[in-house]
Amino acid sequence: MGITKPQLIRDAGIDRAEPIARELAQVLEQCGEAVIVKDLDAVVTFWNREAASLYGFSAAEAIGKPLRKLHAAELSEADYQRLLDRVRAGRPTASVSERHRKDGKAVRVSLKTTPLLDSDGHLMGEITIATDITVLHEKEQALHIAQQSIQARLKAIREANRSLARQNAARRKAEAALRKNNQELKGTIRQLESFHRDGETLSHMAELLQSCTQRSEAYEIVRETGSLLFPESPGSLFIFRKSRDVLEHVASWGDGHAPEVTLAPDECWALRLGGPHFVPKAGSIRCPHAHPQADSYVCMPVHGQGQILGLIHIAVEVNARSRRPARDTEQRLRALTDRVGPALANLNLRDSLRELALRDGLTGLYNRRYMEDALDREIHRAERSGKPVAVVMIDIDHFKYFNDKFGHDAGDFVLSALARALMQNIRPSDMACRYGGEEFCIVLPEATLECASERAEKMRLAIRDTNLTHLGQTLPAPTASFGVAVYPGNGSRPADLLKSADDALYRAKHEGRDRVCLAPHPTLPAQ
Ligand code: GH3
Ligand code: MG
Ligand code: MG
Repeated sequence: MGITKPQLIRDAGIDRAEPIARELAQVLEQCGEAVIVKDLDAVVTFWNREAASLYGFSAAEAIGKPLRKLHAAELSEADYQRLLDRVRAGRPTASVSERHRKDGKAVRVSLKTTPLLDSDGHLMGEITIATDITVLHEKEQALHIAQQSIQARLKAIREANRSLARQNAARRKAEAALRKNNQELKGTIRQLESFHRDGETLSHMAELLQSCTQRSEAYEIVRETGSLLFPESPGSLFIFRKSRDVLEHVASWGDGHAPEVTLAPDECWALRLGGPHFVPKAGSIRCPHAHPQADSYVCMPVHGQGQILGLIHIAVEVNARSRRPARDTEQRLRALTDRVGPALANLNLRDSLRELALRDGLTGLYNRRYMEDALDREIHRAERSGKPVAVVMIDIDHFKYFNDKFGHDAGDFVLSALARALMQNIRPSDMACRYGGEEFCIVLPEATLECASERAEKMRLAIRDTNLTHLGQTLPAPTASFGVAVYPGNGSRPADLLKSADDALYRAKHEGRDRVCLAPHPTLPAQ
């Protein structure tokens, strides 16, 4: 065995060299790694059993042969030259290479080389320790391939996840859009239904308002419609009095602050402006009539017959920025006032017509037709109640004189002044009418003959005391004659009763005017 004696042998002395070399050879045989020693020409000088097992060449075949003839047979010229250069450079190396066994099969080996030095430290060759890592390499390769496959799969899974996430996001987005659409659709349907309901409520209100005959009925209809259209918003309706100096509260809905009973037109901005006044919460331009604790509200004038007839005050929410209520609320409110206005105007016209039909244009007293109907009614009532009804007929004395002396206008003036004087001396339940020309008739329900004559006397004195100044001219004091009759004593039918009163009046005229005469009392002798 051409192995150099190592330091150990040198240290042991020449006698022990042989046995130690044998021991070392055994160690190298049993070390479990392929150990190959070669000289500077890569000719093998030592080849242990593992080397034989690794490359398929026995020690006998390998020793004395260059690596070119052994497992480096397949190396290219250049690679083999590099191998020789390495051996001759005397540098330790570590590498992994592919070599070929004797049977031509490739083996993967991990190579560790260290320079082989003689006892003087000269480079003699190279020791190679080779480990068969073919299986390891194959496993590594398989592992690498498996890893690559796993990586590829992971990549595919990640991609699939990303795509799934994208799809999910897209689906969620589509679902959200669908939900939003649905909600909008529901909102639109609700709004349409609500418009439809509002439209029906408003048409129904307009129909009812057209057919109502009393103002109180109209106010009740507005109250109910208000509560249907604005169930959450308390509101009130105010109507101008005939005098137009004040508005009266006539209807309210909802659970709000009690409204003022009356309000002056200049207490409301809407009435001053002639248009709606919107007040947001904590808004500073508030109407003095609005309750100080009320939040936001709207005042909406009610127009009709070319003028403002009233006002709707309603506690709806008003946006602080736009200073307007929600669009549909405002529309509903305008629709309400737009319908209430003409209806109230109609009622006004109807009232005026009724008044015209019932009252005398000059004096404002009831006319004769109304009085006859009223007397008929009162007599029927008296029949049931057993109470009396008195009638007083009045004729102005020498009235012709006023006309002749001061003109017809002065005569008219006297007529209306005396009508006022009469009105001031009767009770609200009594009815004063202009019977014709310069004659008046008063019906006093439940008045006895005595009571009526007392009242007639008061009226007579009131007429006498009437101060008449017409166009700067003082007219003479007027007087009138009175005839009093009472149901049932002086007649049980209106015509008979009136005739009795007229007869008494005739007597008053006859007896000298400016006096009260009574119809003869059935139990008393005629006066
Ligand atoms: P006597 O005391 O007898 O009742 O005398 P008199 O002048 O009041 O009665 P007479 O019947 O002679 O005259 C009534 C007058 O009243 C005649 C008529 O011209 C006048 N007269 C009737 N209606 C009106 C009216 O609406 N306006 C005016 N200015 N005069 C009227
Ligand atoms: Mg007369
Ligand atoms: Mg007269």
